Amino acid sequence: MKIYSEPCYDIDELTNYNLHVHTIYSRCAKREMTATAIIREAERCGVKMLALTDHFADEGLDILAQDAALRREVEETGTGIRVLYGAELSGCGIGKYTDTDEQNAGLDYRLYACNHFHVDCWDRAEDQSPRGWAVFAMDIVDSIIRSGRADAIAHPLIGRFLEFEDKHVVTNAITDNELGDLLTTARDHGVAWEINRGAALGFPEFAARYWNIGREVGVTFHFGGDSHAIDSVDPKKQLDELKKIFI
Ligand SMILES: [Zn+2]
Ligand SMILES: [Zn+2]
Repeated sequence: MKIYSEPCYDIDELTNYNLHVHTIYSRCAKREMTATAIIREAERCGVKMLALTDHFADEGLDILAQDAALRREVEETGTGIRVLYGAELSGCGIGKYTDTDEQNAGLDYRLYACNHFHVDCWDRAEDQSPRGWAVFAMDIVDSIIRSGRADAIAHPLIGRFLEFEDKHVVTNAITDNELGDLLTTARDHGVAWEINRGAALGFPEFAARYWNIGREVGVTFHFGGDSHAIDSVDPKKQLDELKKIFI
């Protein structure tokens, strides 16, 4: 789903939305992350829009049934917050997904992770050097962008899911030109680039690179809290630190 009619480059505005929230349906989320508790916290914080994006790496999951249950629970709260029922889907190789076309079409918001290389369903780079991994990671993102399946790319191109001691070594093997080409492809295909709070604060130098290049090419950014606990539902948490990067 298209969220912004025009790209927005104001972090105060972008953080009115939290487009990456996990619920009890994600094993890694805290058990407190019920739909009702998320909504109450979002109301308290003045959030304008939420996307519920549980992991979908296991083909056996019925993601549409999960979302329907979340929708029922949210509707019972009577909230006025706009809620999108989506998923953090898995782009686990070039042209390789765990969601079917029907599942993909049934989601309000299709956020694709392309770099959960620690998860079993993910393919591995043939060339295991940092540069080899960087090229492989970029190729997956490129294929997802062009597939028409994605609304946004989650925590793009960060390497913290790989086993390298230096968690930035793969990302640093990507040139500005390559990053610009990917951001341009994302723009051309109407796919948003996520500003993922944890990823941005964990690697601010890279976040500043895609922010600057992305604005130049005119890509759309979305903000995602990647919230796994109630105290991270507020998209404005750590806003002062984010403002040092996204200026
Ligand atoms: Zn993720
Ligand atoms: Zn996530």
